[in-house]
Amino acid sequence: MNTTMVLPKVLVANRGEIAARIIRTLNRMGIQSVAVHHALDRSAPYVRMANEAFELHGASPIGAYLDIDQLVGVCRQSGAEGVHPGYGFLSENEAFARELVRSGLVWIGPHAEAIAAMGDKIAAKHFAHQHGVTVVPGEHEIIPNTDAAIAVGCRIGFPIMLKASAGGGGRGVRIVRSAGEMAIAFASAVAEAKSAFGDGRVYAEKFIERPRHIEIQVAGDKHGNVIHLGERECSIQRRNQKILEEAPSPAINNSTRNAMGEQATALARAVGYDSVGTVEFIVDQAGQFYFIEMNTRLQVEHPVTEMVTGLDLVELQLRVAAGEQLPLSQDDVRFHGAAIELRLCAEDADNGFVPSAGRVLRFDPPEGEGVRLDSGIESGMTVSPSFDSLLAKLIVHAETRQAAIELLRSATSDLCLLGFPTNLGYLRRLVRHEDFAAGKTHTAFIDDHAAALARPVISAEERDAILAAAALADHELLRSMSETPAPLTEIGAWSNA
Ligand code: ADP
Repeated sequence: MNTTMVLPKVLVANRGEIAARIIRTLNRMGIQSVAVHHALDRSAPYVRMANEAFELHGASPIGAYLDIDQLVGVCRQSGAEGVHPGYGFLSENEAFARELVRSGLVWIGPHAEAIAAMGDKIAAKHFAHQHGVTVVPGEHEIIPNTDAAIAVGCRIGFPIMLKASAGGGGRGVRIVRSAGEMAIAFASAVAEAKSAFGDGRVYAEKFIERPRHIEIQVAGDKHGNVIHLGERECSIQRRNQKILEEAPSPAINNSTRNAMGEQATALARAVGYDSVGTVEFIVDQAGQFYFIEMNTRLQVEHPVTEMVTGLDLVELQLRVAAGEQLPLSQDDVRFHGAAIELRLCAEDADNGFVPSAGRVLRFDPPEGEGVRLDSGIESGMTVSPSFDSLLAKLIVHAETRQAAIELLRSATSDLCLLGFPTNLGYLRRLVRHEDFAAGKTHTAFIDDHAAALARPVISAEERDAILAAAALADHELLRSMSETPAPLTEIGAWSNA
């Protein structure tokens, strides 16, 4: 790749692990990096990694990161020419993209019309269908009330899935198996969609039983070139939220891979896509795939694609945003080995995954060849409950899927995070599950294997013995015991999983 960079300085309008990950690429490419942070994030590692940092103010911590005027103001103050939005926050906000362009700044993402076209889930499905993409059977029209929803269910055949038109993150989604369940399901889907998105419109489609979630990474530039970078399988989800992602999928063959890639690039081409993005499909048990949505941003799980293709997707985004051509054609894309990612979250997996927070007493990342950690935390920092629960992503890469699983098992054992409850123990059990190892994954995996994935019950005596042994082995920990008793409950999971 040539190294002339049209953007000398870039502001990262995000926080946590993704801000750190983007800044890493900016630093490597010699681009000046500007971080923004709320007061709660003042001492976060990503703030120190950047060349400059500016504090954002807001009525709420999240509100600070969503304040378009302040962000444009920081660009002016710092002289940043471009803005990378990361994922979440303003990453799929067409108004932000337009405002930056209007202010003479470079939006490091797709053009605003593409965001708008894919942002409305119903419109996106009609658009995709018109361009030869296979969509989930359904009527894909707004449903005004319960009776109309029952009528739609009868026409497309139960079970159906009610979904929010403004959807995202699995919110406003309900599975309805019969007409009798509709009244409650419809009311709660509308209420949830309203509170999550300020838009209570819902539609329905056929509910596919135990599908796999397989998505295609696409990349385009401003010269009309569009390629795909293969698939990621993200079937292991809890309440429609991904926990583990991998590339390649253990379930599809080359002909399905190529067919999905062709449909994904056809859709991207049809919207004139000029950045990196993801076309999501679900695949039924017979192997038929159906489009569900397109995400017009960098995805949380993009590292697995980077590991198997050897590409840096943030670099690709920066280059195409600056007007360069994609540096490779479809024929140049090569895949090597298998990569798997786990999401380490501040969630108490043993207590219904309720969000947790607190001081990180100890964080020892695993190391070694083929192990990557995209992290937003470090020992000593305080994790606030005000933000998303994602703390870090552990990614492994090896020659084969089996070798990647072995590496993941040892890396999760080596990883130590103490201070408050997390999902680490749960992830350790997940990667040791034989059905995962056998590639028998689908979106109901977590529910179907709930008992096997639950924390093993230990007696009070066993727990005390483990605590005593761990404390004796670790003086630092012993010191922290007197200050903070609560985190020690985590040691049971840590030593036992
Ligand atoms: P959201 O926009 O809320 O994230 P998506 O349409 O992306 O919703 O779907 C999220 C997840 O919900 C998918 O990965 C899949 O697990 C499940 N899902 C979505 N549509 C269907 C469907 N028609 N049948 C079965 N599962 C579905």
